[in-house]
Amino acid sequence: MRSKTARTPMIVALILALVVAAYADSRTQLKPGWNLFSPQQDVEMGREVSKQAESQLSILNDRQATAYIDSLGRSLAAHAPGEKYPYQFKIVNDKAINAFALPGGFVYINRGAIEAADNEGQIAGVMAHEIGHVVLRHGTNQTSKAYIAQAPLAILGGVLGSNSVGSVLAQLGVGFATNSLLLKYSRDAERQADLMGTQILHDSGYDPRAMVDFFEKIQAESKGRASEFFSDHPNPENRIGYVQQEIVKLGGAPQSARNDSPGFHDLKSRLTGMAAPTTRSASGSNRPSDTRNGNGRPSAPSSRTAVYSGQDMQLKYPDNWRQYGEGSALTLAPDGGIVNNSLAYGMMVSPFEPHYDRSGQISLEEATDQLIDNMRRSNPNMRITRSHESIRVNGQSALSTELSNESPAGGRETDWVVTVLRPDGTLYYFVGVAPSNEFSRYNTTFEDILDSVRFR
Ligand SMILES: [Zn+2]
Repeated sequence: MRSKTARTPMIVALILALVVAAYADSRTQLKPGWNLFSPQQDVEMGREVSKQAESQLSILNDRQATAYIDSLGRSLAAHAPGEKYPYQFKIVNDKAINAFALPGGFVYINRGAIEAADNEGQIAGVMAHEIGHVVLRHGTNQTSKAYIAQAPLAILGGVLGSNSVGSVLAQLGVGFATNSLLLKYSRDAERQADLMGTQILHDSGYDPRAMVDFFEKIQAESKGRASEFFSDHPNPENRIGYVQQEIVKLGGAPQSARNDSPGFHDLKSRLTGMAAPTTRSASGSNRPSDTRNGNGRPSAPSSRTAVYSGQDMQLKYPDNWRQYGEGSALTLAPDGGIVNNSLAYGMMVSPFEPHYDRSGQISLEEATDQLIDNMRRSNPNMRITRSHESIRVNGQSALSTELSNESPAGGRETDWVVTVLRPDGTLYYFVGVAPSNEFSRYNTTFEDILDSVRFR
């Protein structure tokens, strides 16, 4: 009896302590998503693309300013969870309020973002957000998804084991360009980077409310004229809201949190003393940013053609479409034709190696069925709407199959699959893709492309 009453307050205290601990840090758990690449390949890819980036951007060439930003960035990255990447931080001489990160830790902060920040904590928030993209491997996660979307069968052969990162980048047309897959994240990825950025800021001893302050400041300053750092978030209030919730989950600001340093103000006055960037125009269409384009409909296919000339075949396609990859995964698409890293409008051409029976024989029908089965395995909502209709491609027998699938642009899409079995036993397939309600506007273009095919 006595011992029981003595123990009760202890248990209560213990439970209270647990509750307080849980309350003090119940941060959102964030982990990198599915990825075909190793973290080492993130670094290889980032290094490759950073070379392109630095040849196209104006990097601020001031040793003292760069040293400050690089050391601030590294001290934040030291508090990031997960893989330890070889981070480097540079300043881009651009007035736009923006920043971006390449896989493997190559981070770029615009001069405009530094100039817009009131204190070190605010710019640290922007940098921590970018470190979040690196840690969560958003760039290579998207590249992985695009790789599978464009060469859905390549993964079965473990293609990344034999291909270098460089060849994957070349096949996908991934680089440092407008709308690059490496920099155009989903809204969910942006939210994750905000949450992880808040956590990193907190763990580095900053008052994480600096993140919110910066958002609010930019929002107020950019009235109507959306800042690029916000353009993928039509609703900045949401962003402020979930960051505030995360701060509560973290238990508020850490004890004796800081939010400023004399070094930051030295940097700001150095920047003020420097000439204005001459490349203001570079913030137009040709510069990448940590933003997402609107998913407007692509413009109509041009009647003029461009020529694709590959190892296996030659063909013509509308000259306002772009060519991504070649050989084993050629995709032809208009601007805006790739939505959430999946082909929504355009055509994909790829070889497929069917499984032969023991006699070493296979018919076009059997090879086509294997291909369609394979596609349906990775697209559970795909349905066959028409199949096994004979047509001709470059004088050879071909089969036409029509599929219906979920469109990345929303609603259903029609996929027109044309298969040709070549004398070497490889099945080539062409897939014309467009949302079902717009398919008639693309049908002729797909037919024209198929008519122009010349196998080698
Ligand atoms: Zn971002």
